[in-house]
Amino acid sequence: MVELLLKKRANVNCRLDSVRHSSLMPLHIACGCLAPTVVDIARLLLEYGADVNAESLANNKEYYSLIDPLVLDLIKTIEVPQNGRTPLHIACTRPRSEDTLNLVRLLLGHQANPNAICNGQTPLTLAIVFGNEPLVDLLLQYDQTDPSVVLGFGNGNALCMALSTFYETSWNYSKRIQLIERLIAKNPQVLYPVRFGPKNLLGSCVDYAYYMFFADTRIAQSPYHSLTNQERTIFNQRKELLTYIAKRFREEVTKHDGFLRLSPSTIDGSSSTRFNSQEFRYCGTCGRSIGVRLNICRRCQKVSFCSKTCLENGWNTFHRYECKQSAQRPQTTAKAKNLMNTDNTLLKDALKNVTRPNENNRLPPLSKILRQNRLKKRIKSASLEGIELSWNYTYNAPENYSFN
Ligand SMILES: [Zn+2]
Ligand SMILES: [Zn+2]
Repeated sequence: MVELLLKKRANVNCRLDSVRHSSLMPLHIACGCLAPTVVDIARLLLEYGADVNAESLANNKEYYSLIDPLVLDLIKTIEVPQNGRTPLHIACTRPRSEDTLNLVRLLLGHQANPNAICNGQTPLTLAIVFGNEPLVDLLLQYDQTDPSVVLGFGNGNALCMALSTFYETSWNYSKRIQLIERLIAKNPQVLYPVRFGPKNLLGSCVDYAYYMFFADTRIAQSPYHSLTNQERTIFNQRKELLTYIAKRFREEVTKHDGFLRLSPSTIDGSSSTRFNSQEFRYCGTCGRSIGVRLNICRRCQKVSFCSKTCLENGWNTFHRYECKQSAQRPQTTAKAKNLMNTDNTLLKDALKNVTRPNENNRLPPLSKILRQNRLKKRIKSASLEGIELSWNYTYNAPENYSFN
């Protein structure tokens, strides 16, 4: 039937009714169709000249439910530039199946853009959100796919989506670690600081992970003994993930010199003026930069720490070695040389020398920001697999244009 219509010169790129079908084109509809012939139909449309990167009109609110609720409140009040969704977006929200993979392969083979952004989502991030592992693999195999694309709408980038507590039920812990590693391996730029949250602050993926952790107040702020067994498991895994991502962040950024040097556009594009220097600073141990007070190690002038605990832990695990090597101003007096002999005195020295470099860097603690936001608006509780979480998302409506 599709072939017959196309032979009779049906317009393959016509737009449907804007109200009922949000101005989609036939290829969009084909990609959302769950019929077994979907790949053949899509191939036929493409052969007859369907635009593989056609966007639906930008006035729809698709994927809004995947936006951080605090950011969504702001978006509602301001004018935000929007893009529509492409056939590849729709294909990536399909259920996990061989047809889905074949369809995505077909679209990518016809130069579909895997980095197209629609309301804070790319095809890759949609595959992550829906926990479609084979699809994520397929997309990452393509050279053009870039996980470091900045998504906007408070979503950070693909790595942030992988770290978000919203989608933790889509990936078990070990799969999530594998996903994070694959994203970093595909493009280490995915670790570059991004903007997120209602204040649009510039932070690392570690900051995003902490932000998400504290957003679920039930798990993050209740005393451990009051949590159920299931909640304790979630709490422990989230803590483990925070430690893991902080370690990986540090490992990767220290590999590449100057990796975190910020471009002027990155600094300018915000209401925040906390970055006076060009170098993005973070705590060497826990990896955070937002909501903490960073103190630079005076000895080497290179690594910052957010607290005495982080300094002590960092010192004992890695900084005692690198600080000795990278100290810019070695002390030459005999007394100082004696001091250098033992690590314990070095640590004391480092503790003593830690300074507060810039008072402008001070921000209210994240918990305080969150408390204020909670006062402004109480977010309704939602239950997730029987667990009462104080903040969660629901998005259960992948596009389905099957008419059966
Ligand atoms: Zn720290
Ligand atoms: Zn140092």
